[in-house]
Amino acid sequence: MRKTAMLIVVIGVGAQIALAQNKPPATLDIYFIDTEGGQATLFVTPGGETLLFDTGTGGDNNRDADRITAIVKDVAVEQQLDQVIVSHYHGDHVGNAAELSRRFPIRHFWDHGGWTVEGQTNRRAAFDTYMSIRGTANVTVPKPGAKIPIAGLEVTFISSAGEVITGPVAGLPGAGEPNPLCRDFMPRVQDATPENAVTLGAMIRYGNFRMLDLSDLVWNNEKALVCPRNLLGTVDVYHTSRHGTDLAGSPAMVHAIHPRVAIMNNGAMKGGTKGTFEIVRSSPGFQDFWQLHYSEAVSKEINSPEAFIATMESAPGHKGYYLKLSARTDGSFTMTNERNGFTKDYPAARIAAPASR
Ligand SMILES: [Zn+2]
Repeated sequence: MRKTAMLIVVIGVGAQIALAQNKPPATLDIYFIDTEGGQATLFVTPGGETLLFDTGTGGDNNRDADRITAIVKDVAVEQQLDQVIVSHYHGDHVGNAAELSRRFPIRHFWDHGGWTVEGQTNRRAAFDTYMSIRGTANVTVPKPGAKIPIAGLEVTFISSAGEVITGPVAGLPGAGEPNPLCRDFMPRVQDATPENAVTLGAMIRYGNFRMLDLSDLVWNNEKALVCPRNLLGTVDVYHTSRHGTDLAGSPAMVHAIHPRVAIMNNGAMKGGTKGTFEIVRSSPGFQDFWQLHYSEAVSKEINSPEAFIATMESAPGHKGYYLKLSARTDGSFTMTNERNGFTKDYPAARIAAPASR
């Protein structure tokens, strides 16, 4: 009897070891939530910490707040948001900061300061709503170069309050090298939305995996990040700036950071312009363009194949879907489209970043 019992114990331990060996490696999971041309990107670390980069558009029967809430409830181990970045005070980014703070404990906010450069009565409603909870929230205003303390993840602010980093981001391959594409940089007339120029932008790094997310930073202000030297180095994923409009994402920047994959937070009628598709797709080594929404601004041929698009519909009341990115520390990652279950694996890039800072 004792021998049998011991044998069962031994088999049990062996099975546990085998299970541990077969366990998939821990991933950083990133949910790009369709907020119809706003931004809400949820990061969940292998340790279970959560970071929400922007909060989507407020109102509209809590459309975006409900979409974000459903995913947080589904995937957050602790039903809370540890870190929330409010990149700037346009309604499509700050829109649900107050509403979400009523639904979940929010440990820490990051923003560019308690002021806006667009104080016009018709523009400041979303700002005022956030200010109503900001006074009692735990808020940090980061300088460019500051990092969010999250175990295993490195989130470095690249831009804040109209300033950008002045030196290369440490540890990123290619960061600090001269950028020959600057010769062809042409400034563009920017639209009258100065709040975009003070946005918080960030480089996200998980081991060798790198993603750039500059939120709505504008074309002319990006230049200092990559000219005359490319301070950003190369990345795996480019989260298109300004929802993929022609007012951000110059070739001098996009081609210098050399993304393999782009993810665009466009809406049916917002962003997703022909110029963005052309600039991103002509970047050397570029592979796939994933979209949060089918773009009505361009033809079916210019849109990515349906498998790579989260939400196809634009009729009122339609369901919104997310794209999920699961990154591993070797730099490889997997993309998944919630709507159709389509997945694609991307192996680690050949240019590896140093293993540690
Ligand atoms: Zn925006």
